[in-house]
Amino acid sequence: MERVLIQDVSQYVGQRVKIMGWVNVRRDQGKLIFLDFRDATAIVQGVILPGSDAMEMGKLLREEFVVAVEGNINERPERNRKEGVVNGSVELEILGIEILNTADVLPFPIDNTEDVNELARLKYRYLDLRSDRMQKNIRKRHEVLRFVRKFFDQERFIEVETPYLTKSTPEGSRDYIVPSRLDKGKFYALPQSPQQYKQLLMTAGMERYFQIARCFRDEDTRGDRQPEFTQIDVEMSFATQEEIMQINEELMIKMVAEVYPEKRIQQVPFPRLSYKEAMEKYGNDKPDIREDKNDPNLLAFCWVVDFPFFEKTDADEWTFTHNPFSAPVPGDIEKLINKQDVENIVAAQYDMALNGYEIGGGGIRNHKPETLKAVFEIMGYSKERIEANFHHMLQAFSLGTPPHGGIAFGFDRLMMILQNEPNIREVIPFAKTGEGRDPMMESPSEVDEKQLGELGIKLK
Ligand code: ASP
Repeated sequence: MERVLIQDVSQYVGQRVKIMGWVNVRRDQGKLIFLDFRDATAIVQGVILPGSDAMEMGKLLREEFVVAVEGNINERPERNRKEGVVNGSVELEILGIEILNTADVLPFPIDNTEDVNELARLKYRYLDLRSDRMQKNIRKRHEVLRFVRKFFDQERFIEVETPYLTKSTPEGSRDYIVPSRLDKGKFYALPQSPQQYKQLLMTAGMERYFQIARCFRDEDTRGDRQPEFTQIDVEMSFATQEEIMQINEELMIKMVAEVYPEKRIQQVPFPRLSYKEAMEKYGNDKPDIREDKNDPNLLAFCWVVDFPFFEKTDADEWTFTHNPFSAPVPGDIEKLINKQDVENIVAAQYDMALNGYEIGGGGIRNHKPETLKAVFEIMGYSKERIEANFHHMLQAFSLGTPPHGGIAFGFDRLMMILQNEPNIREVIPFAKTGEGRDPMMESPSEVDEKQLGELGIKLK
């Protein structure tokens, strides 16, 4: 007999069906056994009636056993119906049970895992993910990504994968590095973002790129940070700042309408604040402009623009506030080239904030070698250092790179807000602890002497 998905069983009233899934709840009343079954689509209540051939097997079942069950789909008597619940009006009269796998007693119940110790949840993540809330979070992730891919495809963007094994460059965070076996003493870096590759794809004539990209930053983990996280990464050639902001605003508006129709966007078009206004009015550059902070379905998007390009480091040197690859606003290009009035150079940089979180940021880039070089010179980089780190960018910019700009969204953070979760680990399938560990795989872990030897590495 072919398997029927549990979400569809109510279409089979009066017929015999076969379902497959997990024992969700078991209530043994002696003469009767009630068993709820769960698959990825829904739950159905089953019952083994007195005298049934299935009774003996039914007595063996425990919660989370994996089973194939055959039975008749019956209408429930009026008084037992549950309105508005999937399968609330039907019941499965169990006739035959096959145990596909057993389950030991679970380390924690999976119905309310938000109350379970987080270390245990991460150690048994595959169980945690069985819970209704986590199932919803992960499935919504998929729905949003599916929308994003469809949207960009319709707008003539193509998804291009960029390398994970790349080169250590200053993008603001600490790199994860990977030793090279063939080139002993040399290291790859995992990308902090695909920034340079996506710009080089503009040089390569792709014109409109996006990628659901994994990024790696060796920072101390916080509620909205992880050692690895996902960006919706975007870059466009021949587009103005206005056009890039427009299309990404449209992405968010349409995504919410399609995937979260119950949510309301506070203001469209998204309000825009200058960095200065945001700091003066809200004291930060990712303002929470919600009219009602208790409303879980209110989304208050806004843009923050006109960021200072440079700020002073503790060592009294200039560094970039966002991205060394940003361009200044058109009126400030002269200042950049002449390295004058540096503190007042405004970057063509725009951040998107949502309910008090920065969910995205991007900019128009320098696409000429002299402006990119000027950025590094202002930061005090020597000619040699600029050559060693950025030769490939400067060369590409002297071989016909179009004007371009883009943006990247922190996808985990976006999902955290959309799903009303308190931290990004709730929307990341296999998240790490606050210390960057994976208690399920027990990583990071030691490696063999032999592996280290092959890499020419000796531990201190
Ligand atoms: N690469 C930048 C980041 O990761 C985003 C961008 O400017 O596109 O913050």
